[in-house]
Amino acid sequence: MNHNNNHLITRDIFDKVILPVYAPAQFIPVKGKGSRVWDQNGDEYIDFAGGIAVNALGHCHPNLVQALHEQSEKLWHVSNVFTNEPALCLAQKLIDNTFADRVFFANSGAEANEAALKLARHYAIEKYSPYKTKIISFNHSFHGRTFFTVSVGGQAKYSDGFGPKPADIVHVPFNNLDAVKSVIDDHTCAVILEPVQGEGGLNSATVEFLTGVRELCDQFNALLIFDEVQCGMGRTGTLFTYEQYGIAPDILTSAKALGGGFPISAMLTTEAISSIMYPGVHGTTYGGNPLACAVGCAAFDTINKGDIFAGVSAKRALFIAELEKINQKFDVFSQYKGKGLLLGAELNIKYQGKARDFLNLATEFKVMILNAGTSVLRFTPSLVISDEEIKDGMARFAKAVEKVISVCQSQAI
Ligand SMILES: *Cc1c(COP(=O)(O)O)cnc(C)c1O
Repeated sequence: MNHNNNHLITRDIFDKVILPVYAPAQFIPVKGKGSRVWDQNGDEYIDFAGGIAVNALGHCHPNLVQALHEQSEKLWHVSNVFTNEPALCLAQKLIDNTFADRVFFANSGAEANEAALKLARHYAIEKYSPYKTKIISFNHSFHGRTFFTVSVGGQAKYSDGFGPKPADIVHVPFNNLDAVKSVIDDHTCAVILEPVQGEGGLNSATVEFLTGVRELCDQFNALLIFDEVQCGMGRTGTLFTYEQYGIAPDILTSAKALGGGFPISAMLTTEAISSIMYPGVHGTTYGGNPLACAVGCAAFDTINKGDIFAGVSAKRALFIAELEKINQKFDVFSQYKGKGLLLGAELNIKYQGKARDFLNLATEFKVMILNAGTSVLRFTPSLVISDEEIKDGMARFAKAVEKVISVCQSQAI
């Protein structure tokens, strides 16, 4: 097969050659620029999905294209047997702008969380006791698909069916401090949470909850891990979401928007915690890859600006105003959730369970959106999406909503 002959590549091939763990839309995107995407037929889409909160600067942002191009002619890969300039540069930026002193690079959110959980276990075992291994996690949380991270995640349907799970992991309700109090003890090594639960339905932690969990972790010498894979890197209007809570975690993970579309992740921690690690105790071949880190540096510099952060809250307000117009007309949403441009619109009682129908019809009207569970629509667009693109996309989305409703009504008859 000639891979340059796009007309030979059709959506049917997916159903024959790709492991059937996804059900992608029927069109194949071939080009993107900013918040617009084109498919094989040249049809144009407005992108409110942003590659699941990854394309924080839209598609093919010139700063990222330039960084990738320049690095692609210098050095692609050396492994961690050698270090490289882009990795050191990005690590320094992350440290200069957060609570952290040390960075571990990996390639996906799951791997960053895997490293975080292994670090927390190892730290507790080395420093306190071989029995200090309990990990406290929350219902509806999501931390990735490796077996450890998916077992820590709060949706058993993703971790069941694969045999014995890693042990000593407990799940309690999110935003419920009493529930944490009832399970935390001296054998607890870590509490892990997303300050805004992404996949789980855009649930934001309350200030009382996060500060309370921080105090409990301190009291029981447990490490507090914030998974900011989805909610970090400017998405909620600050570089990382924890900044809005007046507390800091002991370990933080970042991925998704960190590379703006190039696969990269990072685990950040303090000097004291990292001091129990030594060469050979953990690792990865690609982590800190020069291409990924060069793009990461450009993405970091472009995102880490006051006007980008201010834009996030202004654009959220515009999104909600446009959604509310649709809601006034069609009565579909019960509430808006999340923070910044990690925005959820919960379907009201009439449309509970139908999020996927809204998604499918949205693509028919040429706008890309996401769901978070079956009853919340999720919008994670570029942080630099223009107001015109928001309005244009929402006009398309309004037509999709109208059609969902007419389909539902015809089914009800
Ligand atoms: C997406 C996500 C992950 C997993 O990241 P991958 O790159 O898919 O491994 C982990 N945690 C959160 C909060 C996420 O949103």
